[in-house]
Amino acid sequence: MSLLGPTPDAVDDLICSARACRAAATWGLLWNNPKLHTPDRRKVWLACDDHREPLSQFLGVRDFLRDVVPASTLERVDVP
Ligand SMILES: [Zn+2]
Repeated sequence: MSLLGPTPDAVDDLICSARACRAAATWGLLWNNPKLHTPDRRKVWLACDDHREPLSQFLGVRDFLRDVVPASTLERVDVP
């Protein structure tokens, strides 16, 4: 575990994760499913302004949502 706490998975293109949405993502929804992931793991869903709320609710009702951060703060996958 990092001294700085949970580190979100690195993300690829900043495109909204909502189905059929190709809008630019402005938010990163950090989530963890305790049945699948270690406690300090943070999976990332990207969301545009329109989908931040519905995606947050989807994760929230399942008790998976841990944090919402600006997409610009997320670590990016290195693309050669
Ligand atoms: Zn969207």
